[in-house]
Amino acid sequence: MAAPDLDQMWVRLDGQNLPMQQATVPVSDHGFLYGDSVYETLRTFGGAIFELEAHLARLRRSAAGLYLDLPWSDAQLGIELEALRGALPEGDHYLRMLVTRGSGRVGYGRNPDQHPRLVILGGPIDNFVVQGLSATIVPIRRLARETVSPALKTSNLLNLRLAFLQAQQAGFDEAILLNPQGQLTEASTSNFFGVIGGRLFTPALEAGILEGITRRVILELASELGLEVEQGYLTLDQLPTLEEAFLTSTTRSIAPLARLDEHQMPAPGPVTARLIKAFRARAGGL
Ligand code: PLP
Repeated sequence: MAAPDLDQMWVRLDGQNLPMQQATVPVSDHGFLYGDSVYETLRTFGGAIFELEAHLARLRRSAAGLYLDLPWSDAQLGIELEALRGALPEGDHYLRMLVTRGSGRVGYGRNPDQHPRLVILGGPIDNFVVQGLSATIVPIRRLARETVSPALKTSNLLNLRLAFLQAQQAGFDEAILLNPQGQLTEASTSNFFGVIGGRLFTPALEAGILEGITRRVILELASELGLEVEQGYLTLDQLPTLEEAFLTSTTRSIAPLARLDEHQMPAPGPVTARLIKAFRARAGGL
């Protein structure tokens, strides 16, 4: 799903709820100047934030990766999220929590008086599984793990956005990126899963991907269902062996792929359908 329309969104900024169109951040914020910020996209199912603890833990890992100290406890962050939800209409919510390095002098040097800025966006979200997406392996590569690590959820998103634009320009719904070694990594905003020889496959973290919260839930469900799972490496010549494929993310949950370049697959295939059912039961919604 796409994020809600701008006029349906609210923002929590400096302890206040504001309509999105009225919320502004100063130009001196290093999030604006340098893309120096981390974020999490969260959602609710049946009124409760899904996997909140895991999202907050990843936010802390991402911040630590940028030498950014978060001055808020998990409890305080939870209170801020709930405070914004108070301004949103009934139903399930999309929430995007960002922490920027805050306003400071222009330049890379440390500003002793610089304080991280917390911004939370929120709006309504639909509950459905998008069926039958098409994806293409795009020319642009996922960043190497030795650069800004793909494991950190930072707002330096140009690598992924360019990948998405390349896919869109080629007439596909989504982009799949290879790493510099030519191994499959993930899509522009979601993790990749496939079924090969009846076994569930997903790229290993070492391929250079974001460790998705939904990915982790799918791996737990696969183990509960007794599915064989491989976290490994897949190269272009192996794509024709994919029997099924799907993408996972907080906003998409599980999105079956009908096509990966020229390779067509059932969407959803039988293994994907079992996982969707198990995910629905786990989330208590969708
Ligand atoms: N991979 C990338 C690059 C992402 O941006 C995202 C989510 O935005 C994901 C994977 C999926 O992560 P999650 O399941 O935690 O939403």
